[in-house]
Amino acid sequence: MSAGRRPLVAGNWKMHKTAPEAADWCEAFAPLVSAASAEVAVCPSFVALDAAARALAGTAVWVAAQNVSEHEAGAHTGEVSVAMIATSGARGAIVGHSERRAMGETDGVVAARARRLLDHDLTPIVCVGESLAQREAGETEAWLTHQVHASLALVAPAESSRIAVAYEPIWAIGTGRTATPEIAREAIAHIRAVLGERLDAEAIRVLYGGSVTPENAAELMAQPDIDGALVGGASLDPAGFATIVLAA
Ligand code: PEP
Repeated sequence: MSAGRRPLVAGNWKMHKTAPEAADWCEAFAPLVSAASAEVAVCPSFVALDAAARALAGTAVWVAAQNVSEHEAGAHTGEVSVAMIATSGARGAIVGHSERRAMGETDGVVAARARRLLDHDLTPIVCVGESLAQREAGETEAWLTHQVHASLALVAPAESSRIAVAYEPIWAIGTGRTATPEIAREAIAHIRAVLGERLDAEAIRVLYGGSVTPENAAELMAQPDIDGALVGGASLDPAGFATIVLAA
């Protein structure tokens, strides 16, 4: 991490937890992190945003969605707008998660979603990351260069501090195969160099995501340039996630 950037630890619950379960989780979790130095966010499903935000009212933990539409409003059946998540208590959203990119989400769509969030003063957490095949073919840096530029194409330099980027190697997500601290550090240093070609890289928090656990979190987040974590499976347990938050 760096002196000037406050770490952010975000929990991505994916398709887990109903609204009542989310509220219970938040009530158990908030007291455990009241002394945390990191900023903390949780990302429930759309239908649990409101319950989570209400349960976390008066705490420093904020709520973000796992996705959002690039459209302002209109005939987009099944989609959810930025205004809708904002009025449900979300202060940001993950965009471009690899599980969504695998369903056909393009860099152009990811960029438009990040833009729409910024237009509403919400924080985009923009995910990038290479596949195992790309890593083994030596294509990681070129791929990350492309993804960072394309996914953040609509962010203005003056907005740099309002976004977060999550480096999530696809081969490490949900696999139990965590990137070594060295791999994560090298990739994130590269991402920051690419960010610096157009944006204020020193103002942007770059998180690591991919099988972060209470056991490996401290070593990962102690690496230079790693400003926190995006945590999937290990964020489902309040005590385990609190341990990760307190390690940042
Ligand atoms: C994620 O979904 O963003 C993620 C990193 O998942 P996991 O921690 O389970 O690998």
